[in-house]
Amino acid sequence: AHQQLSDIAKPRYIRVNTLKLDSESALHELGKQYMVHEDDMVPDLLVLPPGIDLHDHPLVINGSVFMQGKGSSMAALALQPEPGWQVMDACAAPGNKTVHLAGLMRGKGKIIACELNKERLRRLKDTIKLAGAANVEVLHEDFLNLNPKLTTYSKVRAILLDPSCSGSGTVAVRLDHLLPSHGVGNADATDVDRLRKLQAFQKKALAHALSFPTVERIVYSTCSIHQIENEDVIKSILPLASSFGFQLATPFPHWPRRGLPVVQGSEHLLRTDPVEDKEGFFIALFIRKLTNNHTEE
Ligand code: SAM
Repeated sequence: AHQQLSDIAKPRYIRVNTLKLDSESALHELGKQYMVHEDDMVPDLLVLPPGIDLHDHPLVINGSVFMQGKGSSMAALALQPEPGWQVMDACAAPGNKTVHLAGLMRGKGKIIACELNKERLRRLKDTIKLAGAANVEVLHEDFLNLNPKLTTYSKVRAILLDPSCSGSGTVAVRLDHLLPSHGVGNADATDVDRLRKLQAFQKKALAHALSFPTVERIVYSTCSIHQIENEDVIKSILPLASSFGFQLATPFPHWPRRGLPVVQGSEHLLRTDPVEDKEGFFIALFIRKLTNNHTEE
């Protein structure tokens, strides 16, 4: 009940799909019906009053805007992919972040969107079509099975890794479950087991992302509030990351909510709050400098 109350009190966020519409036109169009303004930090993110249902709005139906929250929209932005780059979206369906990447790259370059689950692959393809993202190549594969040494991936400069997670930052549960005070919050034994399995995959996937030889930027993101899926994953992977020359960098330096202080460099990590920001997201950004092994096409 608490969560529902907080839902009612929190604004609606929508992200403008810049492949189809610019923010000014979206503001103008939505402004005819609603009080709407741009988010003060995230570009092309619009804020509407609480409680508005936009599911059937023409701009949603034709893919000009996506109903995507603030935390979710921050992940692709944190990666800062440039137009013309090759980028991998490792766990892509249903594709909200894939098409956000495509928008940021202004449709130039290539996004390889990898997804293991067949049903979800269909949703990914629908999202890409709806968004009008022409530069996405969909791969029905296990990301862990992709061979980083293949020439197919030898131009990939950035990876967005948004792996399966508990979703504890977005589910409507009682607020006292949302306290990130210790590793697994108030989870019971079955939950703990599930979280450990998720963590095992998250660690493997992040280690795999780090092993792509030409990658300079990696975003690891979850919609979980649990330390075990967030700071603990980063902590365990830091030695490997540093052996590959990666360091933590600070996405959205002015954002006040950072990682829990349980890992060195937690100030680089970013959290959003499930209550204050409507959804609990976690973002870590790894970067490394590579010397001149890229040739632009
Ligand atoms: N990034 C997506 C978005 O913003 O719309 C959400 C991704 S969701 C959190 C994680 C996805 O990873 C699921 O669709 C799941 O099926 C997929 N997945 C899980 N294991 C995978 C694997 N080994 N390889 C590729 N995709 C995987």
